[in-house]
Amino acid sequence: MSACLFCKIASGEIPAEVLHHDDDVVAFRDITPRAPVHFLVVPRRHVRSLGEAADTDAALLGKLLLAVRDLAVRQGIDAGGYRVVTNRGADAGQSVDHLHFHVLGGRALAWPPG
Ligand code: 5GP
Ligand code: ZN
Repeated sequence: MSACLFCKIASGEIPAEVLHHDDDVVAFRDITPRAPVHFLVVPRRHVRSLGEAADTDAALLGKLLLAVRDLAVRQGIDAGGYRVVTNRGADAGQSVDHLHFHVLGGRALAWPPG
């Protein structure tokens, strides 16, 4: 059994507010939202970060971004705009070692990030 938090959320072992799931992709609300809408889109399969994604993961990475696109519409942030972020490694502040795309929207977002 995996010790990984997002693997456990993907399998249903740990509860989350799931917005979407299919064979390859799971999306759920961030437990500490940084914007009025803040959810995470993750592969069901454990990939540590974008840095560990393989060339053979091209279709999976495409599916993750298309899920972002569709969920942004469903969550009502497409028209106003939204940000997609993935943190990879220490300098980026990655705190959960399972690839995830943050999707933030519902307010004007500052740029650049800290
Ligand atoms: P990172 O810092 O790795 O880019 O982002 C990890 C994100 O996971 C953080 O925004 C954090 O709030 C979120 N997170 C951490 N633990 C949980 C949890 O148990 N449930 C959910 N839904 N989100 C979590
Ligand atoms: Zn995992």
